[in-house]
Amino acid sequence: MNKEKFKNKLTEQKKELRTMLERFAKEDKKPKGDWDTQFPQFDGGKLEEAADEVEEFDSLRSVEHSLELKLKKTNEALEKIKKDTYGKCEGCGNNIELKRLEVVPEAKKCKKCN
Ligand SMILES: [Zn+2]
Repeated sequence: MNKEKFKNKLTEQKKELRTMLERFAKEDKKPKGDWDTQFPQFDGGKLEEAADEVEEFDSLRSVEHSLELKLKKTNEALEKIKKDTYGKCEGCGNNIELKRLEVVPEAKKCKKCN
């Protein structure tokens, strides 16, 4: 396995995820890795507009949650590269399929265990 390639891929993915999160969320330093969606600013508009913003806030929050989760897994995968345990399935201990890692480099489990 070309570890350097996956390391670069994961580092790139980490950067992208952070950029996306920074667009609408603020990193919460404690606990580490937790992000908070910033509520859109109200400009004293009508109630209807406010309701739209609440709806937008809710969908941003769910986007934030999935980005946050992916970022967390990406960081964990980078840690594993450092410890030389990258690519091992946490379920059965076998190597995770390379094809799977190509698509989901932060995968923790093989296809069977997932
Ligand atoms: Zn497995």
